Amino acid sequence: MDLNENIQYLKGVGPVRARRLERLGVSTVEDLLYFFPRDYQDRRRISPIGTLKEGEFVCVRGEVLAGGTRKTRGGKKLFQLVAADASGRITCTWFNQAYLENVFRPGQEAIFVGRVGLYGSLQLVNPEYEILDPESGEMNRAGRIIPVYPLTEGLNQKTVRDLVERSLEQFLPQLPDPLPERFRDRWRVAALDEAIRNIHYPADREALDRSRQRLILDEFFTLQLALGLKRQKRDREVKGLPHSASTPLRDRYIASLPFRLTGAQRRAIAEIESDMTGERTMNRLLQGDVGSGKTVVAVCGLLTTVDSGYQGAIMAPTEILAAQHYENIRRELEPLGVETVLLTSGIKGKRRREILERIAAGEIGVVAGTHALIQEKVDFHRLGMVVIDEQHKFGVRQRADLRKKGVGPHVLVMTATPIPRTLTLTVYGDLDVSLLDEMPPGREKVKTYWIGPEKLEGAYRFIRKEVDDGRQAFIIYPMIEESEQLELKAAAEMFERLRREVFPGIPVALIHGRLPSEEKREVMERFRKKETMILVSTVVVEIGIDIPDATVMLIENAERFGLAQLHQLRGRVGRSRHPAYCILQGNPRTEDAARRLRAIRDIDDGFQIAREDLEIRGPGEFFGTQQTGLPELRIGSIVADLELMEFARTRAFRLLEEDPALAAPDLEPLRRRLRRRYGESFELGDVG
Ligand code: ADP
Ligand code: MG
Repeated sequence: MDLNENIQYLKGVGPVRARRLERLGVSTVEDLLYFFPRDYQDRRRISPIGTLKEGEFVCVRGEVLAGGTRKTRGGKKLFQLVAADASGRITCTWFNQAYLENVFRPGQEAIFVGRVGLYGSLQLVNPEYEILDPESGEMNRAGRIIPVYPLTEGLNQKTVRDLVERSLEQFLPQLPDPLPERFRDRWRVAALDEAIRNIHYPADREALDRSRQRLILDEFFTLQLALGLKRQKRDREVKGLPHSASTPLRDRYIASLPFRLTGAQRRAIAEIESDMTGERTMNRLLQGDVGSGKTVVAVCGLLTTVDSGYQGAIMAPTEILAAQHYENIRRELEPLGVETVLLTSGIKGKRRREILERIAAGEIGVVAGTHALIQEKVDFHRLGMVVIDEQHKFGVRQRADLRKKGVGPHVLVMTATPIPRTLTLTVYGDLDVSLLDEMPPGREKVKTYWIGPEKLEGAYRFIRKEVDDGRQAFIIYPMIEESEQLELKAAAEMFERLRREVFPGIPVALIHGRLPSEEKREVMERFRKKETMILVSTVVVEIGIDIPDATVMLIENAERFGLAQLHQLRGRVGRSRHPAYCILQGNPRTEDAARRLRAIRDIDDGFQIAREDLEIRGPGEFFGTQQTGLPELRIGSIVADLELMEFARTRAFRLLEEDPALAAPDLEPLRRRLRRRYGESFELGDVG
């Protein structure tokens, strides 16, 4: 039997257990070696029975005195025994395990592990047990740190432990170490067999730590190699649409701006130009905190493509944002003679057909739309570049769709969720990264307050004062009702109250997700023109909206929003030289919610916010697995073990530079791991 053998053939498994193990992701013997515990029990300390206290998790060793089965009043079968050591005795109780009658005999020595409960007297309920060998009295799993595995229906801890132990004894010696000795020595990491043995049955805490490190490093190193190989492949295969370095329209646009570009913007624009005039298709991520001025950079890219005779498209996650991009870009590009259109699913019938025809005929330079643009049949005359705004709403899959659409247009994705660089490079492994790490000058920090409901009237008064001074305000209500109907009704009622009672004489408007897109646009346009001064909204203004005179963002029931969302919302104000305010009215019921509100009140910097958000939510939820397209990691955490990830990344990329095909003979075990873990998902067909 070898490592690749189906688990079914391991002694003690068989077809039924094999199916259950499959549910845990274990289908071969090797998988079992890599099936890591989710936790450990420290059974090295045996507590004297006489010292036990209610609530403790303990391991005791005693002699079985007497046992028997009886029925509870509810009809359940109950097996109980009494165990004793020199210091005292305790009852152990198991429900529905009458067969234990045939397992225990008076006089046996056994170990019992569980939590001490008080049911009349102190008891251990459903403890784990291990009967000691009467000959040697030797403890197998007692006196040790014991693994606790993730389970599934029909598989208990003991079975999984037995199977893992068997595979450790039988197969561990065959397991090839993916890290050749030259790396192990240089990196000072444990050998694989030692690490695997200790991750299951650690000799002590230190050995466990060492082993975890080694296995995380393996996992990360393999992941980074896979990312690197995928990149190599892309660089070989995907040729870009060649663009000219002469960019008259773009240069005129930059000259027409009422402000000077920041250094970061200039750098990003240069990186984009160098991609587009180069050999390969651009795949670039533009990262910049809310308000850092990503749109200008995007428009420069779009004009670079128009300058070379192509068309550009910019896609936003919501219709409102698409419309805003359209209004702004059209206004700016009209004087340059570049025609811009808006295309969203809200635009239908004859108008839509007309627009589609003009796009196909090449009369249109820039198309603004929602992300639906790529799913719909839009025929471009010569699509040269696509901008995807607010990448965090846009999955890897869709980007792949886009690339398949034609002779891959250059792609720029933009995100306001800044995360540490190594994380970005890992999570968006196929993208190059440009960073806007500099805010336009003159921006002031948005003053942020967290208030209780009793202070709401005061907040309203404050808004009235700001409006009297010619400023505008947002009032945000999160979805509260379960049903959309109810929610609309609640929003409408609340709006009426604000309009009539709270802000009489001030033009107030309401916007929500169910409004037809044409109406949404009109509401936003009136707000932009300052025909309305207060905009009451459900979450649709979350991202991207740019209203320079808005200075107050009041968020009601703020505890219902995620941290990134709150940061986005706050980013809607403070976009001019006037001081700006964000007022959070919230009554958090969970510690996480309170932590979010404290964080948004105290932290200003988007990077720090993102890190906090990652910590609160964990990477799974933060990124969403579908979003990243990354395979699930077995042991490492891309957040908690970030330093190891950094180490793995630099080492992996250095190795690929020295040996791009990983052809060295001592890398065969590594090539095998890569094929097994990433061959399919990363289409690494040609590895080894
Ligand atoms: P975001 O990065 O959040 O998408 P925007 O592109 O919407 O930010 O820009 C925010 C605001 O900053 C806009 O009003 C934009 O015109 C302005 N802006 C962009 N770049 C600069 C700059 N270099 N100097 C001053 N204002 C700028
Ligand atoms: Mg934006």
